[in-house]
Amino acid sequence: PISIVWFRDDLRVSDHPALSHAVRSGAAVLCLYVLDEASARPLGGASRWWLAQSLRSLAADLAARGAALVLRRGPAAGIVAEIAREVGAGSVSWNDIANAPARALADDLTSRLGELGIAAQCCPGDLLAAPSTVRTAEGRGLRVFTPFWKRVRALGDPPLPLPAPSAFAAAPRIASDKLEDWALEPTQPDWAGSLRADWQPGEASAQRSLQHFLHGAIDGYATERDRLDRLAASRLSPHLRFGEISPRQVWHTARFAAAERPALAADVDKFLSELGWREFCRHLLFDHPDLATRNLQPAFDRFPWRSDPVALSAWQQGRTGYPVVDAGMRQLWRTGVMHNRVRMVAASFLVKHLLLDWRCGEAWFWDTLVDADPGSNPANWQWVAGCGADAAPYFRVFNPILQGEKFDPDGDYVRRFIPEIAGLSTKLIHQPWTATPLELAAAGVTLGDSYPHPMVDHRVARQRALAAYATVRNN
Ligand code: FAD
Repeated sequence: PISIVWFRDDLRVSDHPALSHAVRSGAAVLCLYVLDEASARPLGGASRWWLAQSLRSLAADLAARGAALVLRRGPAAGIVAEIAREVGAGSVSWNDIANAPARALADDLTSRLGELGIAAQCCPGDLLAAPSTVRTAEGRGLRVFTPFWKRVRALGDPPLPLPAPSAFAAAPRIASDKLEDWALEPTQPDWAGSLRADWQPGEASAQRSLQHFLHGAIDGYATERDRLDRLAASRLSPHLRFGEISPRQVWHTARFAAAERPALAADVDKFLSELGWREFCRHLLFDHPDLATRNLQPAFDRFPWRSDPVALSAWQQGRTGYPVVDAGMRQLWRTGVMHNRVRMVAASFLVKHLLLDWRCGEAWFWDTLVDADPGSNPANWQWVAGCGADAAPYFRVFNPILQGEKFDPDGDYVRRFIPEIAGLSTKLIHQPWTATPLELAAAGVTLGDSYPHPMVDHRVARQRALAAYATVRNN
């Protein structure tokens, strides 16, 4: 018999319950990936690039085990069921992805397979805890992070990760699309050069990043994570996004590191709680499939957002005149990620200083982040905008000057991404407009030319934001 494994956002061979299940059954295994752009939110440009590399890497890992990765494009449930019928499969297995479109697809597939008399096996998926295990007494999802995370931790350690199967019996080859024909990667212009330089998608690279982190930057993570000028975090987010590594692999490897070196306990705890935020966002998405479009707090439906395409474009291009915001936006464009602290500052700048709808920023991040995640991206945007679950307080308007001075005290981060002001002294680097003409000339900076004047005055913008937020509170 043939057993089909349907890969989705779980592009790995280790700790892949569906693959292990199929291999254990002794059937010949057919590995399948279906690009279905209609039944989920279409991927942004940077994520499409990542997906292409990740599929290549998975195909190579499967080839090393004697199996091929079959690629098809179109409505996934119909395609998987049709292939199962054609090859006379005895079963189809996949990992649960706990969000509405993924579950709807899986339900559709289950009923099609049922009609064909083919067994369907849905394995526990990509979460530390299934949404059904973390509910209030009334059966609702938790909307505040701290109690949520306490509940997840109280469940104890998640199951140990499964090892990667070694070589297994592969099903006879069937026709596959060519990855190149999917045009996931940019050609004209090819803007992915800097992504290629910065990243290596795929499972082996995910495992290396985790090891590298646990043998280096984890030391001091709890206190250093916010520093913009240090590589103080794991860089695992795109790998986790595409399931090249599972959260329980990260969990157990980190816990093991802490057991070996007890001095790391606080750092590992903090790191795991960040993994907890990912989990929290995924659970929110499970309960609110429209997280990317609808305010979790309905009072915000009447928020007086401005419409200002010129301001939006200045923000996107990293030309707001506030160096830390601009450095972040340029880091995003160039490398496909942005430091977490700057994500908060840049997002806050868009919604509070510019009063532009958080959905405009969310959409830009969705297109440009390699880790663009259907849960984490909208949940964090809603958090920053104040309309989300467990949201940032409305009166917190990040001061981009102070944030820069605090978390990039020597200005190294700003200098890396905004070379045109790199000659300014550390005192001036976060507020170039306070420099004297002499200081600007000495640094070779012409404000308004090579680098813009601030597009809004911080104090004025702050007052305007507080007034706008007051309308929501008073509603
Ligand atoms: P580490 O500090 O090493 O953290 C480990 C892992 O924990 C991360 O890989 C990530 O999976 C998870 N994590 C950490 N912080 C958060 C968080 N606040 N929310 C959810 N998960 C978290 N993260 C995404 O993965 N995808 C997104 O689309 C995304 N959009 C964001 C948008 C905004 C406006 C903000 C403020 C944050 C967003 N984040 C997003 C969260 C966070 O910025 C990134 O996860 C983090 O910067 C990734 O770097 P790292 O892997 O080195 O993180």
